[in-house]
Amino acid sequence: MGSIVLKTEIPGPRSRELTARKDATIARAKGLWMPMWIDHGRGALLHDVDGNTFIDFAGGIGCLNIGHAHPRVVKAVQDAAAKFLHTDFTVVPYESYVALAERLLPLVPIGGSKRAAFFNSGAEAVENAIKIAKAATGRPAVIAYEAAFHGRTHMAMSLTSKVHPYKTGFGPFAPEVYRVQFPNAYALGPDAAEIALDDLRRGLKTRVAPETVAAIIIEPVQGEGGFVPASAEYLRGLREICDEHGIVLIADEVQSGFGRTGRMFAMEHFGVEPDLVCVAKSIAGGVPISGVLGRASIMDAPDDSTIGGTFVGNPLGCEAAVAVLDVIADEGLLARGTEIGDRLRAAYESLQDRTPAIGDVRGLGPMLGVEFVREGDGAPDAELASRIVGEALARGLILLKAGLHGNVIRTLVPLVISDAELDEAIAVFDAAVTSATAAVIA
Ligand code: PLP
Repeated sequence: MGSIVLKTEIPGPRSRELTARKDATIARAKGLWMPMWIDHGRGALLHDVDGNTFIDFAGGIGCLNIGHAHPRVVKAVQDAAAKFLHTDFTVVPYESYVALAERLLPLVPIGGSKRAAFFNSGAEAVENAIKIAKAATGRPAVIAYEAAFHGRTHMAMSLTSKVHPYKTGFGPFAPEVYRVQFPNAYALGPDAAEIALDDLRRGLKTRVAPETVAAIIIEPVQGEGGFVPASAEYLRGLREICDEHGIVLIADEVQSGFGRTGRMFAMEHFGVEPDLVCVAKSIAGGVPISGVLGRASIMDAPDDSTIGGTFVGNPLGCEAAVAVLDVIADEGLLARGTEIGDRLRAAYESLQDRTPAIGDVRGLGPMLGVEFVREGDGAPDAELASRIVGEALARGLILLKAGLHGNVIRTLVPLVISDAELDEAIAVFDAAVTSATAAVIA
């Protein structure tokens, strides 16, 4: 018997009731991607309010690399909550904030002296990384990428590329943001790195003067943009350009960090050092906290009290994040992530051999995307991807889409998933793709 248990239609009656209450009370912008409501989660499994059990490949959009409700994180939060809930670290400090920095900084793929600062969300980490880079350089401009996603606050939204739905109606945007091509090998072909480096070099002549650029911010694997990895060749070239012009290189590892690619940070795959790293999502096993980590000379540029916020680096998040680092080390989740990635990639590639609608299988380690296209002209097929998400859900597997065209299915599987659960999920994925593509052909 497998882990998936479906006792009611999906959504079940209790979920439908909750959705009706939500529709009567919650702002329309808070639409729901999944129709069922969670009761509790354990590891890679999500149990809904109607008694159904799903395998969760969404992980709260990449926040659950160590799984739902890991007992060591739950205990850390309970213990911390029983002591105190809040002081504001800068008003009355607490040890866990510093302990987290001491544990994290040696893991960041940057040499030399480093510093940390903690915030609440990924977007806030991005906002603050940009402020820090501006303070360090005294420059106003920032370069970001086509198809980038950096969050929904004002600066982060300005850096985000996808217009609908993230930016529509929310302008004017932050000024002095310039956009360049991402080295997307599926879109640009084998010369993607050189094409994208040429675009950046041209941009520094035609879009913005390099001596006014504070930072270039890049996701080493684009997340919302469709799980597109950059390459070592591109990142090496980018590092050289940043060094030549005194530009701060920011790696946004909000989605790719904490084992998501089989390494602690995705940048480790490329052997290139950024100057600053933004972290959030899986850092604390589901508890909201984020951070900016990086070179001391840059991190120390802003004056006292120029970065901060009431709840930033909250004690529950700090304790939870330390527990997450213990879990990743003690349970060998980086090696396990690589293993999961290898198994999933093999399964997706074998499916691709049988499925002309799969245009690409790509990613790093277990951070894998499957891109669906129309047979014949290869155009993005968002409708098919949606149908597959629906077919998978009806069989008990939670999947998420991504990509500028919404035609990529991404894998954000908890790295604590068992082999049996992984096999079961792969079988459901296969059945969902087979059924959805058969429906298209019929
Ligand atoms: N940066 C990246 C790469 C992300 O994927 C996200 C969220 O998906 C963010 C920043 C924003 O994080 P948050 O939603 O916690 O503000």
